[in-house]
Amino acid sequence: MDWLWWVFVFFIVGGFGWIADTGRTALRTRHERRIERFELAERERERERLALEEANKQPEPVCGCSHHLAKHDRKGKCHEDMETAVEWDEEKKPLRYERRQCNCQQYVGPQPLSTIYADELTDLA
Ligand SMILES: [Zn+2]
Ligand SMILES: [Zn+2]
Repeated sequence: MDWLWWVFVFFIVGGFGWIADTGRTALRTRHERRIERFELAERERERERLALEEANKQPEPVCGCSHHLAKHDRKGKCHEDMETAVEWDEEKKPLRYERRQCNCQQYVGPQPLSTIYADELTDLA
């Protein structure tokens, strides 16, 4: 019955090996999961930071013609150049563009932006 004992030992050793392996795998999985959770929290923090930055940013003082308000004179005339279609085919598709001064007169109605965007005050005294 010697061989049976060896089979027994073989199973014991194999069993221990399996248990050790499973334990190791479980440990590794737990470790990986912890790293994953850590990275997720990091990403969450980063997103919050970006959102906060976005919220604190001054709104860009850009006109409806897509040019910066600084490109407009006091009367509101835009001095920026832009591509303007000067020739069209029969389907009204523009054929040729030319650089022309933007003919924007700036928005003259109530300015919803002014409540958020205020011109810097100049001390005249
Ligand atoms: Zn404009
Ligand atoms: Zn413009």
